[in-house]
Amino acid sequence: MAGFPIEFAGRIKSLPPYLFAAIDEMKQQAMSRGVDIINLGIGDPDLPTPAPIVERLKQAAADPKHHQYPSYEGMLSFRKAVAGWYQRRFGVTLDPASEVLTLIGSKEGIGHVPLAFVDPGDVVLVPSPGYPVYPVGTSFAGGVSHLMPLTKQNGFLPDLTAIPKEVAQKAKLMFLNSPNNPTSVVMSKDDFRRLVAFAQEHRIIVCHDAAYSEIFYDGKRPTSFLEVEGAKDVGIEFHSLSKTYNMTGWRIGFAVGNKQVLAGLGKVKSNLDSGVFQAVQEAGITALESDDHVTDGLRKIYQERRDVLVPGLQKLGLEVQNPPAAFYVWVTAPKGYQSASFTAHLLEKAGIVTTPGNGFGAPGEGYIRMTLCTTKERLGEAVERIQKCGF
Ligand SMILES: *Cc1c(COP(=O)(O)O)cnc(C)c1O
Repeated sequence: MAGFPIEFAGRIKSLPPYLFAAIDEMKQQAMSRGVDIINLGIGDPDLPTPAPIVERLKQAAADPKHHQYPSYEGMLSFRKAVAGWYQRRFGVTLDPASEVLTLIGSKEGIGHVPLAFVDPGDVVLVPSPGYPVYPVGTSFAGGVSHLMPLTKQNGFLPDLTAIPKEVAQKAKLMFLNSPNNPTSVVMSKDDFRRLVAFAQEHRIIVCHDAAYSEIFYDGKRPTSFLEVEGAKDVGIEFHSLSKTYNMTGWRIGFAVGNKQVLAGLGKVKSNLDSGVFQAVQEAGITALESDDHVTDGLRKIYQERRDVLVPGLQKLGLEVQNPPAAFYVWVTAPKGYQSASFTAHLLEKAGIVTTPGNGFGAPGEGYIRMTLCTTKERLGEAVERIQKCGF
C-alpha cells in the first residue's frame, strides 16, 4: 500500500516554532558527552508530594466507588474544600456548587476556556512573555492574540493604556498571570482594581492564572484577583495543586469565580473530558485541608535557594530581578548576548540548562529564565561555574 501524505490541520501548522528544540538538542549532545548538567530549565518541583496526600490516594484508589466515571464538574466535597481554602486563604466566599469547577490541571482549563467564549477573529489580550497556553488556546479557538508586552519600563506589568481603543473594544477575553511565569512579578490589589475597571468598561472576560499564589517569599502573600470588588462580575481565577503541593504529575486544579464563565468552560469540558479520577480529588481534599506548615516548609526551601542563586548572580554582575514569588529567576542577558546566545553559552561552557526568554514571546528577547527546582548546593555550583566560564 502506498499510503497518502498525512496533512496537519491549519491550527497545528500555524503553531509557533518550538524555540526550545535547539536547546533540547544541545542538552542531549552535552549529556552524551558525559557533561554533568545542572538543569535550571524545568518549571517542575523536584520535591515529592507530601506523604499524607499520597496516603489518601492509596486508600481512595482501593475504594470501588471511585472506579467509575466522576462527575464533570468535580465532586462536591472537593469543591467544598476549595471554597474552604479560599475563605481561609483570601477571605473570599464562594458557592461550591456554582462558583468552583474542578479541572484536570489548570492547563486544561486555560487551554479550553477560549473555546467557550472566543469566535473566529475575536481578540484575546495576552501577556507576553507568558505561559504559551494563552496564545495557543486562543488560536485553537480561531481567536487572535493581542500581546500585552511585559517590559522593564512598565515594571513587567500589562500596560492597559497602551492597548488601542479599537482593540479593547473587540477583545472578548484577557489572560493575566500573577505571580508571573516567567518574570515572577506579582500584581497588587491596585493593579487588579484597574483591571476590573478596564474589563467592566470594555466587557472583557478576565481569566487570571494564580498557579503560583502559594510560592511566595519574605512572608508577603500574593492577593487573589477575586479579593478585589467587582472581580467576580468580570472573571475567573485558575489555581492548581501542581506547584503548591508538588503535584504536577497528578493533574488536578480548579477554576473559581463568575458562574456564567464557569458554566461556559464546563460546557466545553463536559463535551470533551470526563473529569478527574475521584481518588485524586480525595487526595486533593487532604492537600487543601492540610496545615500551613506544609506549604511554609516548601516556601522556606525555595527561599533558601533563591537566596543562593540571586545574590550569587548579582555578584557576578548579572542584572537579575529578585523574585517576590514563584520559582523563576528572570535574568537580563549580559552585553553582547541575546536570549538564545546566552542560553547556548551557559550550556556549552558551564553545562547549565536555562530557558531563552523569547521562548515565552518576542518581548522576552534579551532575557533568560532560571528555575529554583534544584537543590541550593547545585544552585551554588551553577553560580561557581558561571563565574569560572565568564560571559
Ligand atoms: C505550571 C503552570 C500552571 C499549572 O499547570 P497545571 O496544568 O495545573 O499543572 C498554570 N499556569 C502557569 C503559568 C504555570 O506555569
